[in-house]
Amino acid sequence: MRAVVYRGVNDLRLETVPVPPIGPNELLVKVAVCGVCPTDIKKIQYGTVPPPRIFGHETAGVIARLGPGVSKLGWKIGDRVALHHHVPCQDCHFCRHHAFAQCETYKRTGITAGFQPAGGGYAEYVRVLPFVLPGVVKIPAKNSFAEGALLEPVNTVLKAVRRLSLLRGDVVLVAGQGPIGLMFTRLLQLAGAQVIATDLLAPRLRLARKFGAKWTLLAQTGRAELPLRPDARQRVPASTLNPQLLGAATCLGEAVRRRKRSGDGSSLIHRATRGCGLDAAVIAVPSDAVVQQALQLVRGGGQVLLFAHTKRGTPASLSAACGGEGRGEVACSNSHLPSPNFPLDLASVCLDEKDLLGSYSSDFTLQDEVARLVFSRQLDVRNLISHFFPLEQTAAAIRLASKPTEDSLKIIVTL
Ligand SMILES: [Zn+2]
Ligand SMILES: [Zn+2]
Repeated sequence: MRAVVYRGVNDLRLETVPVPPIGPNELLVKVAVCGVCPTDIKKIQYGTVPPPRIFGHETAGVIARLGPGVSKLGWKIGDRVALHHHVPCQDCHFCRHHAFAQCETYKRTGITAGFQPAGGGYAEYVRVLPFVLPGVVKIPAKNSFAEGALLEPVNTVLKAVRRLSLLRGDVVLVAGQGPIGLMFTRLLQLAGAQVIATDLLAPRLRLARKFGAKWTLLAQTGRAELPLRPDARQRVPASTLNPQLLGAATCLGEAVRRRKRSGDGSSLIHRATRGCGLDAAVIAVPSDAVVQQALQLVRGGGQVLLFAHTKRGTPASLSAACGGEGRGEVACSNSHLPSPNFPLDLASVCLDEKDLLGSYSSDFTLQDEVARLVFSRQLDVRNLISHFFPLEQTAAAIRLASKPTEDSLKIIVTL
């Protein structure tokens, strides 16, 4: 079968590999589509895992073969299915604490097209291992494979939304309106929040309105200016910001300033929250400076949720533009805060009782709810998909996803 094999940093090759054999309680699925996800992009571009591997984990397709014992679980050849490559054991200490992403079973990848299991969606067929069978979801006849493929990222976003303690009418800022940020905007709106959406790209803000944002702010990079804050006493002098990071990191603050200049007389956040400060901020861009600014913009007792700080060890702002989007791999890694360039006043956590949270990956217990939201189109993920690429152009699909343009959003590889 054809597969796109990762052979080293930025080295993806279309190769012919064997169709993976399956064993008892396993499925062979003929892949129809696979979403391009930032966590795979990071692995490909930074070489964080050794080659060879076949990536792609937002996979949907048709059951092509059943391993012994699997038919009694109700699966049939020809079923249209969406897959989850991580499923927790639901029994260990972490699972009992609902920390599924820390479960040892969850950390294993249960879908492969060959080599070390890595998702395998960029191949014609994938093998579904027994421990991820509970993560296989039937796609209704009226829904597309692409809708099925987006269950997994939507799940990660709903899980993160559930980490926030929100009341109806609360004001939440979502920094970054890529596919993930837009999912946040819509799911927060469905949860009764009033969303302020920011991004560097104007077309994304227009979409954010469609996805339920009450206010949108166009962000800009490259200015060493700090935002207006509800509490001026918390103002940090601009000189404490690392100028290297400013190119990618001032989007949130600049957005607020622009709004002020545009003549409404008071900052949007100030007005929207009646001077109280944001109830929460979701950081869907890998920028440390935006996190720091958000910590200043949330009210006492408010929450800042990190969703894109997935790269350990270096300030993330150096590695990605603010208009991009990411998905958390390591929630709130110690390596990001505090860093010498971004002093974090820990009194904001202690005295002001602000929470700094992270969220990574999916929550198995939300699977049915996510399927309802997506398949009913209450969250219409079709509006998030901008490009379809054939398998042989997977490298181009990944390049585009890693450097979003005005008209690019979620990118799907089709087979
Ligand atoms: Zn993903
Ligand atoms: Zn577990």
